Amino acid sequence: MEDSYLHKGLREKLVDEIQRKGIRDERVLEAIRKVPRHLFMESSFIKFAYKDQAFPIGSGQTISQPYTVAFQTELLDVRPHDKVLEIGTGSGYQAAVLLEMGARIYTIERQKELYLKAQTLLPKLGYKPSFFYGDGYQGLPTYGPFDRILITAAAPAIPTTLIEQLKTGGKMVVPVGGSGSQVMTQVEKTGPDKYVTHEHGWFVFVPMLKGRE
Ligand code: SAH
Repeated sequence: MEDSYLHKGLREKLVDEIQRKGIRDERVLEAIRKVPRHLFMESSFIKFAYKDQAFPIGSGQTISQPYTVAFQTELLDVRPHDKVLEIGTGSGYQAAVLLEMGARIYTIERQKELYLKAQTLLPKLGYKPSFFYGDGYQGLPTYGPFDRILITAAAPAIPTTLIEQLKTGGKMVVPVGGSGSQVMTQVEKTGPDKYVTHEHGWFVFVPMLKGRE
């Protein structure tokens, strides 16, 4: 598991590219600069790791495009020590980016194989989120409330159960829509039973599914 100067150079170029595409938050760019994305990918795709594209990670799922990871992370607006719930661990790459920013991460995955893989890989790279195998629609009521919730799969509608697990003043970022494309939505909880939403353009995610596999 090597992170060479070549990889670091490729990451630098990737950071330039997503910066040109509009990512401004220095803390997000710095995190992308640090996380060795190639170590989160399947062997046949490693050589493409620093392309700004999504790739298969097994179980019919994908590691999100770096620009999309950066865009969601920027909207999430995490502060150091924030307690963050991530739905859709997948490869664990997004969780690693959030950990680089100093957040405390609770991450849920419904595909057993991916959950087990991430749980083995991340600690080896020095990343220590709390891993959960389960259905993200349920959230983690006993661990909440959270400062931030990030959903990395397409939700058919805003999952209101999860808003209940958000602190007042907290934020949730979720791609909302059907199978074609989804609207990146930032939800801000303004009171115990109140929230406002802001929409931020179209993206394509794998679907958020019910239950576990
Ligand atoms: N954050 C991931 C992106 C993975 S793609 C990364 O950085 O690689 C989205 C992931 O969400 C998939 O692994 C999928 O299995 C998972 N997922 C879909 N519905 C879910 C649910 N209800 N609960 C938990 N995980 C879910």
